[in-house]
Parts: sequence; C-alpha cells; structure tokens
Amino acid sequence: MSAPRAYLDWNATTPVLPAAIAAVSEALALTGNPSSIHAEGRAARALMEAARKDIARLVQASPENVFFTSGATEGINSILTLGLCATCGLDRAQTTRVLASATEHSAIFAAAPEAGVIPVDSNGILDLAALEAMLAEGGPALVAVQLANNETGVIQPIAEAARLVHAAGGALMVDAVQAPGKMAVDIGALGADVLIITAHKFGGPKGIGAMVFANGETRLERAFIRGGGQERGQRQGTENLSGIAGFAAAARAAAEVDFEAMRILRNGFEAGLRQLSNGVFIAGEAAPRLPNTSFFALPGLEAGKVVIASDLDGVAVSSGSACSSGKVGASKVLTAMGQGERAPKGAVRVSLGPRTTQGELDACLSTLSRQLARNNKA
Ligand code: PLP
Repeated sequence: MSAPRAYLDWNATTPVLPAAIAAVSEALALTGNPSSIHAEGRAARALMEAARKDIARLVQASPENVFFTSGATEGINSILTLGLCATCGLDRAQTTRVLASATEHSAIFAAAPEAGVIPVDSNGILDLAALEAMLAEGGPALVAVQLANNETGVIQPIAEAARLVHAAGGALMVDAVQAPGKMAVDIGALGADVLIITAHKFGGPKGIGAMVFANGETRLERAFIRGGGQERGQRQGTENLSGIAGFAAAARAAAEVDFEAMRILRNGFEAGLRQLSNGVFIAGEAAPRLPNTSFFALPGLEAGKVVIASDLDGVAVSSGSACSSGKVGASKVLTAMGQGERAPKGAVRVSLGPRTTQGELDACLSTLSRQLARNNKA
C-alpha cells in the first residue's frame, strides 16, 4: 500500500473542513432566495445573517460591516478600482491614488497597476519611513498592506502603518487573507479601514470571501458588481448562500486553532532543514512570521524541480504563490526583499495547517534529503 500523501501547501488552499461541508450541504437544501419575503426566503436570510455574525466575530468586526464577495480577488478589485466613499471623510481622489507594499499579492498590482510601490526591508517588513515620505510627498492615498505574506508568512506592522495613513488623511486596505486560522485578527486593533478575507484559506469552500469595513461610514464608492441591490448595494447579485454557510463554519473552527502547536511543528521542520544543510536560507526568519509558513532555499536545489520531485514522492509543496504556479521564476517577494541572490534557483514554500502531522513533515524532509543527495552526486 502506498504511503498517504503529505499536503503541505495550506497557504495555497486548505482541505475543506467536514463541518464546512456539512454546512454547505445543509444550505444547499434550503430553497429560498435570501431576498424573498416568504418563509423560504426568510429561512435563507436567517442562515445568511447568522453566518455574517460568525464571520464578523472572526475579525472582531460588526456584522453590518461584513459584505460577501466571491473571494479576496473580487474584494481587492472592488476597492482598488472604485475607491472608498465620500461619507468616510475621504473624497474619491484620495482613494484612487493607490500605494501598495512591494510584497503584496499579484491581485493588488493587477487591480491597481499604477500603484506606488512602498519598499520592504531584507526581512520583508514594510518600510514605514518610506510610506510616511510617500504620503508627505503625494498627499492622501488608499494604501494596501497585507497582514501576512502568502510566501514568507512575514507579518506587517499594520497598526503603525494605519497611524501614518490616517495622519495623512488616507485609508488603509489590509489583505488579511493569510491570517485567519494562523493568528488572531482584530480589525479595530489593526486600525484598518477595510479587511479582505477569503474562506478557502482556513477550511472553507473556494469562491467565497468578504470585505469587512471598520465602521458604518466606510463603504465602496459604488458597487463593482451591480444588479438587484443585494448586500445593501455594496455587492449585488444573489448571494452564494451555501458558500457563506461553509465560510461561517470555517470561521467558527478558526477560533479553535492551536497556533503554538503549528509553530512548534514548523520550527522543528526548520531545524530539520538546517540539519540537511547549513547553507539553507529561510526567508523572513528574523521577522515576526505566521506560525505555519516556511519559505526556504537549499543550496543547489531548483525550486521548480523540488516541487515536482516532492510531488512524485507524495509530498505537496509549492514554489511560492499558487496563484502564479506554473510560472517558474524568481520570487517577486524575495526580489523585493533584496534577497533574490540568496535563492538563485527559487525558493520552496512549505505551509502547514492545524491537521498537519509530524509524519508529513518527516516525509518532506526525507524527500528533500534524497533530492540533495542526488544533486550532490550529479
Ligand atoms: N491575497 C493573498 C495574500 C492570497 O494569498 C490570495 C490567494 O492566494 C489572494 C489574495 C486571492 O484570494 P482568492 O483566491 O480568494 O481570490
């Protein structure tokens, strides 16, 4: 019998939790449209509003400030394309000049190709002085900074960034996609004007996410997806009720995750990497990082080939952002950190989840060890 596969690519997407699958199928059994006024419609609406509360609780927000989207990419595009509203004290011009940290996800730069790029240091941490200077020079802006990086797991100083952005009269959008289920998230403590989240990164279904605003005044300038007025006009079209139900089940489960247990496993894995080679490079090692992520390069090993050889050995890892997988090349994140030459053949990302076992990490270290031995012989 072949060994079970080791899935170590949780930052790309996660296995859907059994509780989320059950919630999805229960919601699929409901007939009503949440906008209908009859009993069937009201039952669907009640499920949706209960789910909204669970999702709000995940990031310590108020339910009325949660708006469902088809995922993070849609939320990011909605906000960066249209800007935030006038009622939050910002005029459209102030939120159509976009600044974004150099290590943002590709969705940010695809939605705002003209964005000014805020540099990061060699650990991947946002250069706050550069942000302050860019705001002083160009005036208020809509600033996009991720809470945690999808490749390195590096956590950004969001509260400090928020203070600078607000002092300059701008707004802060935080891509918090990688955070739930890996660290606590509190929109108020972060100081973000809007958070972007997506269910499939923490055990929910793919294709459902949310824009979560900090208060009742901050909203989209106008809806990006326009139709029947749903979601109080912010995101129109009949809601994905089954996805929303699965999202809420995952949000409830995220509160139970033992972050420290993941950190112990990840740190043990990195100790194993150092035993394989003292030349290993681990990106962002000196920075605050998510407890589940390791982005590394082993001397002589080409990241793209490691992904394929590991896959053949039953271990799923990635060579960076899954959204750009298939495109093998230097990691933009490492390049932005000025660390490109520490990983000339690319870097490999191992990302764990709450159900990752020591056995899976051992399987990963074994395949890497065999790959190193083969490479040294060649
Ligand atoms: N932002 C980050 C940091 C991500 O890791 C991802 C997914 O890889 C996205 C945004 C896009 O999320 P979605 O797949 O929900 O569109």
